[in-house]
Amino acid sequence: MCAIVGVAGTDEASYLAYLGLHALQHRGQEGAGIASTDGEDFKCLRRPGLVTEIFQNGSLSTLKGYAAIGHTRYSTSGGDTACNLQPLTMRSRMGWVAVAHNGNLTNAKDLVDRLEKEGAIFQTTSDTEVVLHVMARCRDIPLPDAVEYAVSHIEGAFSLLVMNKDYMVAVRDPHGFRPLVVGDVGDGKAFASETVAFELMRGTFEREVQPGEMVVVDLKRKTMISKQVLKPKQPSKCVFELIYFARPDSEVFGTPVYKARKAMGRRLAQEHPAEADIVIPVPDSGVAASIGYAEELGLPFEMGLIRSHYVGRTFIQPKQSMRELGVRLKLSVVRSVIEDRRVIVVDDSLVRGTTSKKIIKLLREGGAKEVHLRVSSPPKISPCFYGIDTPTRDQLIASNQDVGGICKYIGADSLGYLSHEGLTQVVGDGYCGSCFTGEYPTLVPLTVKKR
Ligand code: 5GP
Ligand code: MG
Repeated sequence: MCAIVGVAGTDEASYLAYLGLHALQHRGQEGAGIASTDGEDFKCLRRPGLVTEIFQNGSLSTLKGYAAIGHTRYSTSGGDTACNLQPLTMRSRMGWVAVAHNGNLTNAKDLVDRLEKEGAIFQTTSDTEVVLHVMARCRDIPLPDAVEYAVSHIEGAFSLLVMNKDYMVAVRDPHGFRPLVVGDVGDGKAFASETVAFELMRGTFEREVQPGEMVVVDLKRKTMISKQVLKPKQPSKCVFELIYFARPDSEVFGTPVYKARKAMGRRLAQEHPAEADIVIPVPDSGVAASIGYAEELGLPFEMGLIRSHYVGRTFIQPKQSMRELGVRLKLSVVRSVIEDRRVIVVDDSLVRGTTSKKIIKLLREGGAKEVHLRVSSPPKISPCFYGIDTPTRDQLIASNQDVGGICKYIGADSLGYLSHEGLTQVVGDGYCGSCFTGEYPTLVPLTVKKR
């Protein structure tokens, strides 16, 4: 998963893009970058690390201009090497072009094979580079035409921002897998993965970019036009954005995230109540759902686990050993809250089971009398091909074991997942839940490997 932001037609564009990225840091912590232009120069800075670390000591002042796009990376396809950081840039007949992408292309490998046979040379292992190569092959020069051409060749999930010195182009795939919103900032326009970015930028949220829609800002004329470049297909908004990925203070796909999570928690309580003394969340991702869960059952909501604010998302660590240590670094128990209590602990999702197993052990060591795990999403049984990092089936505990087996593995007294039906009732129609069903709205590659 990744975040993208764009700021067009206003001074201090790179500073505003920086603020937007700062607000969207949760979508990717491997690295970040910003590309900017003042109509003459084109600059790009991208590095591994966090947004605040990368853009220090006046580095933003080198990113001059009235337009900027930015990206935070969380490797899904392509692996976590520095060459895959975005925005990616290239020189072509359109001058310098920068692209920032959220989502995963499902036909990237086919396109790469074809392009390589024709002699193309790839600098990265990221699927996003394919977009640049296809654009460069377009006969028409204006950037919006090249983008339109490229998106008719790529498949899968893409919310894209593309910029040269004349245009900023935003486009969303025809299924609408990943979010993308547009708004006003200063006397210009802004794009972002989530509405929360506009809060920090002091912008105003206008609307979502629609599936298959291309929005073009002409940087010189200061105009914005919209064009439906791809026919919308089966709506497939990623439901995991609402469950886990997006910030609770965002509105995603037109839905306030916090509210949706709380409703999932309520529904979970109806489906899987438990006899207990307190309800506690796994912070931060389980907080909203556990408040809903506790409210529904009329049980006290307590903070029985405290999260260190100096450790990032543990799941993000590529190695299992690091992930395991990560849980202990990140979470500790409040003994006075849980000691001798029957505890319901609510989390948003179960992926490998590693985190949950550790948390349950921590709670028992902290004196909990019983530990009941409730998960506010259905069992994840299938990998995501659209940008969430669940690479292979064998790593998904629910694809190999039933609820009883998982409960035993993680060491809980009981385990309950929100049903897929319950989830659908909470969020409504038009969502992709392929990680829960194994049914995909597009063709998907037969094998999943990071290139
Ligand atoms: P598990 O117990 O399965 O090892 O991990 C579950 C935890 O991973 C949950 O707390 C959930 O919030 C988190 N999680 C689920 N999906 C992702 C993801 O794509 N990235 C990160 N960083 N964490 C995730
Ligand atoms: Mg979590």
